[in-house]
Amino acid sequence: MSSAPPTPVASPRQLPDLSDTAIAFADKSNADLWRATWLFRIIGNPTVSSIGQGFTTVAMALHLPIKGAIKATIFKQFCGGETIAESLETAARLAKSGIGTILDHSVEGQDDEDALDDTVTEVLRTIAVAKERKDIPFCVFKPTGISRTALLADVSAGKSLNAAEQAEWQRVQQRLERLCQAAHDADIPLLVDAEESWLQPAIDALVETMMARFNRSRAIVYNTAQLYRHDRLAFLKTSHTKAVEGGYHFGVKLVRGAYMEKERERAAEMGHPSPIHADKAAVDRDYDAAIVYCLEHLERIAFMAGTHNEKSSLLLARLMNEHGIAHSDDRICFAQLLGMSDNISYNLAPAQYRAAKYVHYGPVRDVLPYLIRRAAENTSVKGQTGRELGLMLAERRRRKG
Ligand SMILES: Cc1cc2nc3c(=O)[nH]c(=O)nc-3n(C[C@H](O)[C@H](O)[C@H](O)COP(=O)(O)OP(=O)(O)OC[C@H]3O[C@@H](n4cnc5c(N)ncnc54)[C@H](O)[C@@H]3O)c2cc1C
Repeated sequence: MSSAPPTPVASPRQLPDLSDTAIAFADKSNADLWRATWLFRIIGNPTVSSIGQGFTTVAMALHLPIKGAIKATIFKQFCGGETIAESLETAARLAKSGIGTILDHSVEGQDDEDALDDTVTEVLRTIAVAKERKDIPFCVFKPTGISRTALLADVSAGKSLNAAEQAEWQRVQQRLERLCQAAHDADIPLLVDAEESWLQPAIDALVETMMARFNRSRAIVYNTAQLYRHDRLAFLKTSHTKAVEGGYHFGVKLVRGAYMEKERERAAEMGHPSPIHADKAAVDRDYDAAIVYCLEHLERIAFMAGTHNEKSSLLLARLMNEHGIAHSDDRICFAQLLGMSDNISYNLAPAQYRAAKYVHYGPVRDVLPYLIRRAAENTSVKGQTGRELGLMLAERRRRKG
């Protein structure tokens, strides 16, 4: 390691400097930085990235021997390992910098019942591991990991289910109950990821039932609000009101949303108005308004700011100072994805803010859709790649002196 160790922020009232790359990359070797810079350059190039994504998908389907290459590059950047045991090494490394790990079993869109049951078994394992370790503050799962995607869409659309589908839906509810019960018994908050808008009504209804049951004394079950949707700020407020009326705590992860292009394409295809805000400025406005709202209702709300946006992260840090809220308050957490925005996580943690990383793990083949999303996001969303690259290049320059 060629950089200086992180120094704690001088005063708890002072805002962390998110541009401090020495702290952000303190646990990255020069070789790690070189590899990450190279990777972000490749995935930031739309032509190379799209050829790469297509080739990778076909090559994996044909069982071509490319697993090693994926594992040494994009997988190493964005994933903790293929198993929980492998990922715990990543967790230990993050813990040295005061950052928590959220083990995220990267399986999605699996439709057969055995695979859905396997997801439950795996998420239960993460809850059991989290119970034993202080560096794993949350667990998480994707609803499409425990339900057939088309079933979520049918229930969301209010379609009437036949007898077999009703039985299938009951099994989904039982899977969810098992996960929430285990999280409650282990006293580990459980995040439920948000999916596409046409799956979300069913998910929201299920999660609300679980919150009413398991969030009696504190938030154990967390829903996710995607603020790129123009209806989600109102949804956030309604969910809070329901929690107040129902005498339970509302747990929520605030994100902007990962499926913008897919949402817009589908809305256009169906001739519906898009559920997504027309521009980024409106999304940013709602995201920050959601932070303010949550912060002002902490007696009933616990929330996670799942974001790589520096302005939103600093807004939250500043408001916590202004409201006199302890940085370590367990109702507030900042979270980023492993391999992205280390400048946020690594600079918040020394100032005792609760910062955590989603650490995706799973066999390379299963993690591929997630990796392709990471590549696509870094190609399609203007700014993200430039932001990551700029920070890495600045740190490389700093190390060269
Ligand atoms: C810990 C964590 C958990 C997450 N969990 C989920 C989840 O459960 N479900 C989910 O969907 N996503 C999830 N995400 C991904 C997240 O929704 C965003 O895709 C990603 O974090 C980028 O947004 P940002 O706030 O980090 O930063 P920014 O770079 O400021 O924002 C980029 C985002 O803004 C929005 N956007 C960009 N351009 C436009 C435009 N022209 N019009 C409208 N909107 C625009 C898009 O949502 C885009 O992803 C998670 C992210 C993190 C860090």
